[in-house]
Amino acid sequence: MTNKNCIFCKIASGEIKTDFIMETEDYVSFNDVNPQAPWHALIIPREHFSSLNDLNNIELMGKLLEGAQKTAEKLGIKENYRTVINTGREAGQTVFHVHLHVLGGRPLNWPPG
Ligand code: AMP
Repeated sequence: MTNKNCIFCKIASGEIKTDFIMETEDYVSFNDVNPQAPWHALIIPREHFSSLNDLNNIELMGKLLEGAQKTAEKLGIKENYRTVINTGREAGQTVFHVHLHVLGGRPLNWPPG
């Protein structure tokens, strides 16, 4: 299912033209428009789920993690990268279509802000 008001659904469907880093029948990955590190990609399922809490497909969860692995490899950062899923506004979620961030290319501090 897609949500006609969702920007990530429009990206996944091709309605908003985007250069994909990876593309499978289940998910796509692409560069974040506002990168927080030299490399900052997003992995999103083609199907709309508002957040991790709504993502009820365990097989798809695994595929999205595989997408993070493979995207990091394609970006050349597979030795050092961070994968983040923000869930809920207070945790920093701004786009309500579940997505994994993959960040790398610089030292990343812990804990995050
Ligand atoms: P979050 O704050 O965890 O919901 O992450 C949403 C991310 O989507 C942010 O890092 C935004 O910079 C990014 N973003 C929003 N719109 C776009 C877009 N059209 N293309 C690429 N990245 C986007």
